[in-house]
Order: sequence, then structure tokens, then C-alpha cells
Amino acid sequence: MKPAPFEYHAPTSIADAVTLLARLEDEGCDAKILAGGQSLMPMLAMRVARPDALVDLRRVPGLDHIRLQDGHIAIGAMASKRAAELSELVRERQPLFHAATRLVGHQQIRNRGSVGGSFAHADPASEYPAVALVLDMEMVATGPDGERVIPAAEFFVTYMTTALEPGEILTEVRMPVLPAGTGWAIQEITRRSGDLALAGIALTLRIEAGRCTDARIAAFGIDATAVRLGEAEEALRGAAPNGESFARAGAIAAASLADPMSCIHASAEYRRHLVGTLLERALAEAAARAH
Ligand SMILES: Cc1cc2nc3c(=O)[nH]c(=O)nc-3n(C[C@H](O)[C@H](O)[C@H](O)COP(=O)(O)OP(=O)(O)OC[C@H]3O[C@@H](n4cnc5c(N)ncnc54)[C@H](O)[C@@H]3O)c2cc1C
Repeated sequence: MKPAPFEYHAPTSIADAVTLLARLEDEGCDAKILAGGQSLMPMLAMRVARPDALVDLRRVPGLDHIRLQDGHIAIGAMASKRAAELSELVRERQPLFHAATRLVGHQQIRNRGSVGGSFAHADPASEYPAVALVLDMEMVATGPDGERVIPAAEFFVTYMTTALEPGEILTEVRMPVLPAGTGWAIQEITRRSGDLALAGIALTLRIEAGRCTDARIAAFGIDATAVRLGEAEEALRGAAPNGESFARAGAIAAASLADPMSCIHASAEYRRHLVGTLLERALAEAAARAH
């Protein structure tokens, strides 16, 4: 199938892009931002999305940085996932985000797909929203009223829906550097290598004086958005970091899921089982990294 007809715009500055989006909205035109096109182009081709206009960000300068800024890592929304994967800063200072990036699709997808596009697309099976919740990331949105910073916990609203207002562009994502000694892990089950996850777990774990002092855990692929697993986090606080407490946390996490998604590839019960098993494995992996 071919996409339905659309107008194509290629602004050359953030200000022009914002003005253009506002004008198109005033004219009642349904405009969509085009970034790497790795999700949007297939949706257009299948006519799942039929926008009146595309606003292509690829000629807008200043949106592809990856830098240490005021103690956190700032990544421009149009930086490619491959650039994040190859960044020494990301690999060394934020290994959880780095590992998550390497799980996204295949290298060809990561060459074209932008970092910001995955957050804006908000696929519940994507690795990035879960990592954003674990790391308390911040999303920078730029619109007609200027810039605003949205915490990850408020950014992902529901299935493929974010807190971005019409006319706003996601321009940057910010993440803390991982504190020294913090364990981390990301585990997922996919049908084929590079596929979106049937279920996955991302987490950080701190261990002090032989006890788990802090665990931040999020699951993806099981609900309309990535979800924090608060009951499992609570159960780990003060527990010895061993197989018994990790198995218990896995069982608590699996039981705490209200209504896991179900599809032809994985039933709700299978997803529930995966969450428990993946959490147990991820905790063991993170504990081995924590010191
Ligand atoms: C075969 C295949 C496998 C994949 N596997 C995975 C996977 O394992 N994990 C995973 O997470 N993803 C996966 N993806 C999706 C891929 O990561 C996309 O790159 C990503 O979802 C979107 O990024 P993009 O830059 O291509 O955005 P686009 O496709 O251009 O846009 C996606 C959506 O986000 C909006 N958008 C994009 N950028 C912005 C912005 N800066 N501000 C506001 N809105 C914006 C667009 O309007 C559109 O609605 C896969 C895709 C394919 C084709």
C-alpha cells in the first residue's frame, strides 16, 4: 500500500518548526512530525496514520547533541540511536540506557531512528519508556510558549500517547549519570532478535553493607505504558541480595500485575510469568554489577 497524500514541510530551525506547527494547527490541518521515520513511515504506508502534513525535523540543526550538561547527560531528540550506542559518554556513564539502545531493532533501524522518536512514539513494548521511569529522566518539549521540562513519570500517558501538547516538539531528553556502584540490568523476551519485546524488565539496584537499599524497577510490553513495579521494589528494601529474595521479588511483581496485555503471540498469563522470571534474572545480573 502507498501512503495517503500529504503536504511535506522541511523547516530549518526549531523556531520555524514551532511556528509552522502552530499555523498548520490553526488551519485545522492534522500535522505529524517526521524524525527517523522508522515507526511513522510504516504507519503511513499501511494507512494506519493519514496526516494532512508532515513536518520533517531532519534539516533542523541543534537537535543531535549528546553531551554532559550540568551533571546529567543531555541527548538531542534527533540524535540517532546508533550515535547513542557509539557514544563513549553514554556507554561509560549511563550503561543502562546504552544497553537498552542496543536492544532497539537492528543496526539499520538504529542508524535512522532517533532517540527522541522512540520517546514521542511511546510504544508500550519499547525499552526506552521503562528506562526513563527507572532513571527519572526528563523530557524537554519546545512549543509556542517556549520550553518546558516534563518528568518521565508524567510523560507517558497511555498507549502511544504522551504529555506532549499539539504543536510541541520533543527537543531533548535528560538522564542522570549512573552513580558509582549502582547495579543495573535490562532483560527482555522477543520473538526474534530486534523485535519489540513481549515483556521486559529494566532496573537499577543499590546494595550497601550486604543489603539491598534501593531498587527501581519498570516492566515493559505488559500494559498500555511501561509501569514501575513498586511492590517488588518495596519487598527488596533491606533484603539480602540473594536468589531467595530475588525469586520472592519476581513472584510479588508477577502477582502485582493487574491485567497484563494479551495478544496472539503472548497471553496475559505468559506475560505475567515472564515478568516474574525476567525480574529474578535481572536482579541477579544487577547484583553482580553492584558494589
Ligand atoms: C523492524 C523494526 C524493529 C523495531 N524494534 C524496536 C525495538 O525493539 N524497540 C523499540 O523501542 N523500537 C523499535 N522499533 C521502532 C524504532 O525504534 C523507531 O525508530 C522509533 O520508534 C521512532 O523513532 P523515529 O525517529 O524513527 O521516529 P518516527 O518514526 O519519525 O516518528 C515516530 C512518532 O514520533 C513522533 N515524533 C518523532 N520525533 C518527535 C519529536 N522530536 N517530537 C515530537 N514528536 C516526535 C512522530 O510524529 C511519530 O508519531 C522498531 C522498528 C522497526 C521498523
